[in-house]
Amino acid sequence: MPTPFPGSPTGRRTLLAGLLGTGATLLASCAADPLSPRGPRQPPPPAAAPAPARVVPSRSAVLSAYASKHSGAFGLEVKGIELGLPASARGAALTFDACGGPSGEGYDDALIAALRKHRAPATLFINQRWAAANPGLVRELAADPLFEIANHGTTHAPLASRGQAAYGIPGTASIAAAYDEIMDNQRYLADTFGVQAKFFRSGTAHQDELGAALCRELGLLPMNFTVNLDAGATFPAASVASQTRALRAGDVGIGHFNRPASGTARGVSEALPALLESLAARNLVLLRLSEAFGAQTGAPSA
Ligand SMILES: [Zn+2]
Repeated sequence: MPTPFPGSPTGRRTLLAGLLGTGATLLASCAADPLSPRGPRQPPPPAAAPAPARVVPSRSAVLSAYASKHSGAFGLEVKGIELGLPASARGAALTFDACGGPSGEGYDDALIAALRKHRAPATLFINQRWAAANPGLVRELAADPLFEIANHGTTHAPLASRGQAAYGIPGTASIAAAYDEIMDNQRYLADTFGVQAKFFRSGTAHQDELGAALCRELGLLPMNFTVNLDAGATFPAASVASQTRALRAGDVGIGHFNRPASGTARGVSEALPALLESLAARNLVLLRLSEAFGAQTGAPSA
């Protein structure tokens, strides 16, 4: 039976929290460290008239333009952050983060192998610390058309303009630091691996409204999620599987691919056949984020 995409992602999270534990624990994505579509498709945006290349504002221009602006609300779902896919998207999206840091530099090769086995596209958000620790893997993943590489920040800090903290992790303390949190990794991914990331997810996935606006001005879409697949790689495999099977049109699921000891790979692997089958029954597929957002994204030219 088709399940409609819920109007409010909060509703899905609330349900999940009620089923499985406290919201704070469930939403601690990353805190503890803490698709090629098939079937009928919308035609791609016309390529004949490409949008003019975006020019990233300079750091000094950003500092002067944003210094006196209000930071706005801070959280997972504040204004300016994308949660699900556009209404036009004919499918759902899997996203997985690699957070890096002292205990977060692992690689879940079983998860990546499962995605490849089932030809399940995904968007991989990579933090600079993880990329620096795993350059060969970044090259391998970036070269695989099944995957899109996205920006998971430089130091894995919440993207804040006044130092707001999430799960006890201090956010960037100023708009200058927020700029660096986005752009240092953006340039690192571009210069080192030839990757032009189009989506940004901060460490802990928390941002304030000013950070989200800055992100957009820099040419990146701030991207969170509607379904928490692994709660910061803490869910057992059975919970990961049920969360993965729950994805519907417009959903964006978040998991992790830097925690090989977690239940993420087993849960996703177990659920993928049923998920792909249920999507296909509705002429839906798994999508990389750029496929879903199309012309809304524009790679910045630094
Ligand atoms: Zn993370």
